[in-house]
Amino acid sequence: MCFLNAHYANQACANPAYRRALAQADLVLADGSGLALAGLILKNPVRENLNGTDLIPWLFKELPSQRVKVYLLGARPGVAEKAARCLRGIHPKIEIAGWHHGYFPEDQTQEILARIALHKVDVLLAAMGAPKQELWLAEHLPETGAGLGLAVGGLFDFLAGEVPRAPLAWRGLGIEWLWRLFQEPGRLWRRYLLGNFLFLHRVWRQSRERFP
Ligand code: UDP
Repeated sequence: MCFLNAHYANQACANPAYRRALAQADLVLADGSGLALAGLILKNPVRENLNGTDLIPWLFKELPSQRVKVYLLGARPGVAEKAARCLRGIHPKIEIAGWHHGYFPEDQTQEILARIALHKVDVLLAAMGAPKQELWLAEHLPETGAGLGLAVGGLFDFLAGEVPRAPLAWRGLGIEWLWRLFQEPGRLWRRYLLGNFLFLHRVWRQSRERFP
């Protein structure tokens, strides 16, 4: 299960392997105001703005009574462990099978896969940013034996309190991206200022093709 926001859509336009990984997912959920606006312009409105940071904790709160084993893969060293502690507090039935940071070299992949498979994990959370997390899940999810693989972007950073979430009012107005831009302007200005413009330009072109 993956999420698609304007930035991810821009990346998918330039990366055929990422497009294939998204096409291969069982569920791709629309995340953010960019997708909502695109839905309106293309006369195919999205019903809900579903971002992983809100949806995943909610899903875990709604867990049925059986135990769910979760493995966390991604973020900088130390962050997944803090996020795991936070997840454990969400629901008593969540069992943390383990975690690993998301900056491992390629030759460590088999060892990580074996570790996840050994624990017979139900849910694998992959938080390595797009498209790395989606490509990794597309290639390796079957080998992990996990029933569900979720590509969750910056979720661990938020859960661990490493990156502050936008105030509710900002989220309600659909401008959480602006909050993130203020937090990390050096890293994110291209993504949001150029990226949003590029995304909307593509949507506009597509709408002219569809509705000449
Ligand atoms: N990340 C990672 N491995 C990498 C690159 C990124 O684990 O090779 C992590 C990064 O530390 C962060 C997450 O991936 O926790 C995604 O961050 P970003 O803010 O780009 O997330 P998004 O906007 O996709 O939610």
